Amino acid sequence: MNKKLRKAVIAGNWKMNKTRQEAAALINEIKPLVAGAGCEVVVCVPFTHLETALAATAGSNVKVGAQNCHWAASGAFTGEISAGMLADLGVGYVIVGHSERRQYFGETNLTVNGRVRAGLDAGLTVILCVGELLEEREQNITEEVCSLQTKIALAGVSKAELQNIIIAYEPVWAIGTGKTATAAQAGEVCGFIRGVVAGLYDQAAADGLTIQYGGSMNAANAAELLAMPDVDGGLIGGASLKAPDFAAIIKAAND
Ligand code: PEP
Repeated sequence: MNKKLRKAVIAGNWKMNKTRQEAAALINEIKPLVAGAGCEVVVCVPFTHLETALAATAGSNVKVGAQNCHWAASGAFTGEISAGMLADLGVGYVIVGHSERRQYFGETNLTVNGRVRAGLDAGLTVILCVGELLEEREQNITEEVCSLQTKIALAGVSKAELQNIIIAYEPVWAIGTGKTATAAQAGEVCGFIRGVVAGLYDQAAADGLTIQYGGSMNAANAAELLAMPDVDGGLIGGASLKAPDFAAIIKAAND
């Protein structure tokens, strides 16, 4: 019942893939397949492809996101991109705290919080990723890890600003591995995270928050995952690079 209170969002995380030409071609293939979608559709492309993606999606229901932003508005941060620069381009979404950023680029809960803050300040919708490592699941500390990541990332975020936050629960052991969490596992942790948000704000705020599952979601398993009461969408890596697969996941979200 509460699921009706929130919008379903299916977002593709293209990671470091595609040339600009390939990006435009993929978007042009996706657009007619998802034109009537009842859910929000987002493609998070590499920084260098943002303008191409914005041009290719113009006038369609496909929205464009980036895969990271810096915590500062500007300054001596060689190689970084600010949230304001993304907003200036017309980008509407940004992924923050992806496990690949945490794993390979030294992101911490505190830097993730800074990037969340920066994204909100620039008027972007932030897709905040949280999730446990395999060892953490095996040690039965999934809830502690997800709770801590969520609480620190949302520090200083007001209840009103929560409307511009999407949380993506992404168990690290399921990302790019072909190992999907079972629908029960995904539903359980998404429900747990919603409870954490209810504790931080209130139940109404938690009930309105879109929580995605991400981790090897594909055309075959999407319907079961998306049927779980607390799973409101998906953050899709590999399967978002193939238009028919991505469209099939969006269809599953609509159904
Ligand atoms: C991701 O990158 O966020 C992701 C979920 O990847 P994949 O779907 O490939 O596991």
